[in-house]
Amino acid sequence: MTDPADTATFAPADARPIRRKRIVIRAVFVCLWLAVGGLVVWQAGRIARDEVLADLTQAGRVALSLNAEALGAEIDKQRALPVVLARDPDALAVLRAPENGAARDRLNRKLEALARATRAAVIYLIDDHGLTLAASNWSSPVSFVGNDYGFRPYHAVAMAEGAAEHFAMGTVSHRPGMYLARRIDDDRGPAPRSGLGVMVVKIEFDRLEAIWAGAPERIFATDARGVVLVSGIAGWRFQSLAPLPEETRAAIRAGLQYGDAPLTPLPFSPGTDDGRLVSVDGTGMLHQSLTMPEIGWTLHLMTPADQAVRRAVADARALAGAGIALLATLAAAGLYRRQQLQGRAAHAAHERQRLEAAVAGRTADLARAYAALEAEMEERRQAEAAARRLQDDLIQAGRLAVLGRIAASVAHEINQPVAAIRAFADNARAFLDRGRADAALANLSRIAELTARIGTITGQLRGFARKAGTAPTPVRVTEAIDGALLLLGHRIRAGGIDLVRDIPADIAGARVVAERVRLEQVLVNLIGNAVDAVDGRPAPRITIRLSRSRADDGASRLGLQVSDNGPGLAPDIREALFLPFRTTKPDGLGLGLVISADLVREMGGTLSACSPDTDGAGATFIIELPEAG
Ligand code: ADP
Repeated sequence: MTDPADTATFAPADARPIRRKRIVIRAVFVCLWLAVGGLVVWQAGRIARDEVLADLTQAGRVALSLNAEALGAEIDKQRALPVVLARDPDALAVLRAPENGAARDRLNRKLEALARATRAAVIYLIDDHGLTLAASNWSSPVSFVGNDYGFRPYHAVAMAEGAAEHFAMGTVSHRPGMYLARRIDDDRGPAPRSGLGVMVVKIEFDRLEAIWAGAPERIFATDARGVVLVSGIAGWRFQSLAPLPEETRAAIRAGLQYGDAPLTPLPFSPGTDDGRLVSVDGTGMLHQSLTMPEIGWTLHLMTPADQAVRRAVADARALAGAGIALLATLAAAGLYRRQQLQGRAAHAAHERQRLEAAVAGRTADLARAYAALEAEMEERRQAEAAARRLQDDLIQAGRLAVLGRIAASVAHEINQPVAAIRAFADNARAFLDRGRADAALANLSRIAELTARIGTITGQLRGFARKAGTAPTPVRVTEAIDGALLLLGHRIRAGGIDLVRDIPADIAGARVVAERVRLEQVLVNLIGNAVDAVDGRPAPRITIRLSRSRADDGASRLGLQVSDNGPGLAPDIREALFLPFRTTKPDGLGLGLVISADLVREMGGTLSACSPDTDGAGATFIIELPEAG
């Protein structure tokens, strides 16, 4: 599952049906969860209820048997009393002679003392007709003495069978109790006789009932017909478990067994099943019973179960509910976390895609920029190559221009030896004609010398005109000076110029790394300009000076000065000396100094000029170059 917001972002067209489907699934899930949760809570309540009831049943069973024990003990305790008293001589004496007042009095007191000692309610003696002869309560206002109990079933039964036990309401005391009767036989007297009378002990259950009344449970005992005889709740006495048939009730009432009790049914119907919940006064009670065969009674126990059951059920339901809620919370939290993670993952994937697209776009931009740069660099390379070619052409043009200017001078320089050669050749022929071979040989030698000189000049010219292209090599500065002077020699001589070479002996062999032709071209330019400058000046002089200096980094540098005593640099030329096409000469090009400065810079040096502001102080051009090691 993905977050709805994310879905909307990534797939807007599909978002609505997917969202609706998800809502339906969630609703079904919640309903299912609620149903299962409700079932679990309900079931937990049921289990708790059953458990509480089982516990109460167990406890009830124990309480029932204990109380049955107590009830049985209460009766058992008194059972022996009528048996013993049936053989009492005083009782026999009274039966034998009822008119004997002293004997009756003695028996009365004896029974009174016994009743007090045994806590029997009443002990009394009835004769065979039912008349009470003596009683433990003889002295009380409710004395039984003189009462006729012949109608009581226990009298008839005891007389007939020897013993009887009978529960009934007292006709005088109006207190219910158990009557234990025993027939008295005279088997030792002079005239043995059976059935003289009946000794009766009445047991009342007040104490037991008081204890039962104090118990949280409701405890009562019923007879075989279901009539309550002994009960912790006074109001229930002589009420029946189930409605009694009218004739039964009439018979009981006629026998005065339970006095005038209406024998109505109890306000609840426990039925016969044990362990049933019965509503008593609006309270649910657990009903349990135990039959007591020896007396034919049934003991009933009603344990209040409502509160315990309600509390246990509520606790169990609360616990189950809390568990379900906790589970639901955990599940919801897990689901939420999962959704969050998925949402985050989707977002991260989206971000990654966006980043990748951005990187791809940027890479493409860079590739384009790189290609453009490459193209630009190539263009620049071509432009540089073109510029270099142009510069080379320019240098060559400058050189040819210089050549043009010196051509006349050179032609003159060559003409002279050629004319001399011709003269020497004529002379040699004349000497040979005259047979003076030695003189002819001397002339021929001169011719050879002159030819060599011409060769030198033409060689220099050819070299100067040749386009440069050789690699720079260490070149002696003096050789370059000589080369330049060779080309300009005629002009210097023709101008009557005083050429001063100021070259100290220790640096005469100093060298610089350069193309010789180019260094010569620079010198031809500078010396040529000097020759132009001193043309027509008085005492023209050109000085070529070589010096050595040390740079700051310790490297050795050579300084080559070309000075003249011409007019010096014109003011407007001084401002833009190394700019092209600045010339003061009618046939000048204004390229010589530009090209020279360029060539010196290529050799790793500098070309500068100085010219004092006074006319005739001349101009000085200085070439500075690193000395070759
Ligand atoms: P061009 O010689 O063709 O005029 P250059 O570049 O060699 O071209 O020289 C430019 C100008 O510099 C010259 O016309 C001249 O006015 C001036 N100049 C160069 N050298 C000297 C010098 N030694 N004395 C005076 N002026 C000079």
